[in-house]
Amino acid sequence: MPIEILRGDITRLAVDAIVDAANPSLLGGGGVDGAIHRAAGPELLAECRMLGGCRTGQAKLTRGYKLPCRYVIHTVGPVWHGGLVGERRLLSSCYTNSLRLAAQHSCSSVAFPLISAGAYGYPKDQAFRVALDAIRDFLASTEREILVILVLWERADFFGADSLHKNVRRYLDAHYDDALDGNRSIAAQEIAPMPQMRAMPAAMPSLEDALRDVEESFTQMLLRMIDEKGMTDPECYKRANLDRKLFSKIRGDIHYKPRKPTALALAIALRLTLPETKELLARAGYALTHSSRSDIIVEYFILQGKYDILEINEALFSFDEPLLGGRAV
Ligand code: ADP
Repeated sequence: MPIEILRGDITRLAVDAIVDAANPSLLGGGGVDGAIHRAAGPELLAECRMLGGCRTGQAKLTRGYKLPCRYVIHTVGPVWHGGLVGERRLLSSCYTNSLRLAAQHSCSSVAFPLISAGAYGYPKDQAFRVALDAIRDFLASTEREILVILVLWERADFFGADSLHKNVRRYLDAHYDDALDGNRSIAAQEIAPMPQMRAMPAAMPSLEDALRDVEESFTQMLLRMIDEKGMTDPECYKRANLDRKLFSKIRGDIHYKPRKPTALALAIALRLTLPETKELLARAGYALTHSSRSDIIVEYFILQGKYDILEINEALFSFDEPLLGGRAV
């Protein structure tokens, strides 16, 4: 299942479970914990009182009460003491233990805040990376389909210091066509597939003949490439950050028309070169252009031979661009 990154208020999400960055008493605090208790109502605190607290890195589950989610998973992140006293391992286990608990309760969607990154002082960029690594490792280790949403409350300006971000920014500055800024939507729009240009036939071909000449469709090209690369379907949709359902839809419909972020995600999963990526996109009626910031960012990664979808999404997110991948709606 895909990992999504959202900016917003976790208390508003109608997922199966939201995770609370609690303190060891589980009796309420500030930050996201305070927001969750306020939105859930006093019954949440009453149930928390019966849990007898929670150790750092562990997780406990309650009902969601007035929240739109079914459950709240309470986990206690480590306080940051400089990074040398096991903070990373403990933070990672918050995510793993919360996800285990969610799986035990048959949750198919779970939202996390950036645990420890507020009052507990964990540097946000590191907390973000630990979160993504732990979530990815958990999802790779399970057959279960769980959608995981990482919710950031504040602007992700903490990415700026990172050298990857600086390199992407440099590439963007060099290639983004500012003159077209006003027309940004053009890049995001579909470009109708060009009809094949051919010499004028002496007589009009029959419809049957014309249809026989139609190029390979997006789905056909995708499936051919998966075979050529010796990949399995699950390898492909996991690397594309797509859910199985969406992938099955694409596989089952030779004329499927994916959204552009889905098509791009599949190009990344297949580790296509830039020309190959452009060709696959064209089969779905899209182009890769320098008037779109997100296209340039993806192009940067392809040219660098970096095909880690989460890393690409992290960069896209930090530049406020839509993320790659998706799920069936
Ligand atoms: P901790 O004590 O584990 O650091 P905090 O609640 O202080 O927990 O902060 C954890 C993260 O949650 C911070 O990045 C904070 O900005 C964020 N946060 C605060 N309120 C919300 C909210 N309503 N939804 C999502 N994230 C939130």
